[in-house]
Amino acid sequence: MFRRWRNCLAREFIWIALYSRRVDDHASPYREAMTLAIAEAELATISGDLPIGALVLDESGVVIAKAGNRREATQDPTAHAEVLALRAAAQVRGDWQLDGCTLIVTLEPCPMCAGAAVLARVERIVFGAWNEEYGACGSHWDLPRDRRLNHRPEVISGVLAEECGNLVRDFMANIRTQGGK
Ligand SMILES: [Zn+2]
Repeated sequence: MFRRWRNCLAREFIWIALYSRRVDDHASPYREAMTLAIAEAELATISGDLPIGALVLDESGVVIAKAGNRREATQDPTAHAEVLALRAAAQVRGDWQLDGCTLIVTLEPCPMCAGAAVLARVERIVFGAWNEEYGACGSHWDLPRDRRLNHRPEVISGVLAEECGNLVRDFMANIRTQGGK
């Protein structure tokens, strides 16, 4: 398994948030929610998954869904935290259109997850650390603000960015340590 991580995933994730484009998030109303997303991210590591966590908040700011990465646990390439949280939120509401909802995630969403958030019509995407290789909310791509789309969620970045980035960095450092040089 550790060889797989090194060969397949280390290349993908080693880049994460290694430099800072932080905003001053001390007054962010999403810090508390991000703390809950971080807890989901930490749980993901139990199954050997990369620590990324996501929540969906309703219009009132109530958590209606939460998930961590489950790609390793389920061997499902689409089982990213954001997709799982969006699916769960749609189940809770009985409606795939998540109007007024906010997607909270510890790492900038990839193209698949940013696309899913757009298609789910969430009002807002809030993320922690930047994803310099696969980020699709402002770093590598910027799907939510593509003017060709007829729904463009607001994007808020950098909420508890250091904590969120450290989760992934520490996880990858552990993998390298346990897998040997
Ligand atoms: Zn994703």
